[in-house]
Amino acid sequence: MIRAIVSDFGGVLTTPLSGSFQSFADGSGVDLETMGQALTALHERDGIHPLHELECGRLSETAFVESLRDSLADLLGRRVELASLADSLWEGLFPNEAMIAFMASLRAEGYRMGLLTNNVREWELKWRAMAPIDDIFELVIDSAFVGVRKPDPEIYELTVTGLGVPAAECLFVDDIEVNCDAAQAAGMTAVVFRDAQQAIAEMRAILAAEGLVV
Ligand SMILES: [Mg+2]
Repeated sequence: MIRAIVSDFGGVLTTPLSGSFQSFADGSGVDLETMGQALTALHERDGIHPLHELECGRLSETAFVESLRDSLADLLGRRVELASLADSLWEGLFPNEAMIAFMASLRAEGYRMGLLTNNVREWELKWRAMAPIDDIFELVIDSAFVGVRKPDPEIYELTVTGLGVPAAECLFVDDIEVNCDAAQAAGMTAVVFRDAQQAIAEMRAILAAEGLVV
């Protein structure tokens, strides 16, 4: 029996993130593939992935951008002026009103509500301003503040413990498949978000199958 909903934030309660990464690359005059190569080079050099460190709150946004700039300079043999990561990301990102309304309706139905987000410490005020987060979600687990990120099993454990509901009673939704796979491995039911219509239909079908019509 599903008693709790656990939702991702970026790309689920917002418009897709892919355009934001593209605009960061475009604004920096570098293609996305090169950006990826620069990050991979840092990962190989340091044994830790800078994006993961950023999302775990161990690397500041400024330090992340500086190391990416250095890595691109090594790769391209010239200095690159990077666009503002925050501006690029947030300018093209809007609330997904249909998903936010659906989450609010689930809260009103009495479901326990958790938000599980891989995020950036410096962006907390920005992302929280996009939706009435605290009105809908009783629990917010933000990777940047707990120091562990999806798909690490530990962050699912933190969520389940925080909600006080067994994993088997949680319905998880996320736009990244590996995060959904990890949720299933943790014992949750998971829906891979592709768009609001599909995700809402799949979530409703799962809840309806248990006689929990929303
Ligand atoms: Mg996401």
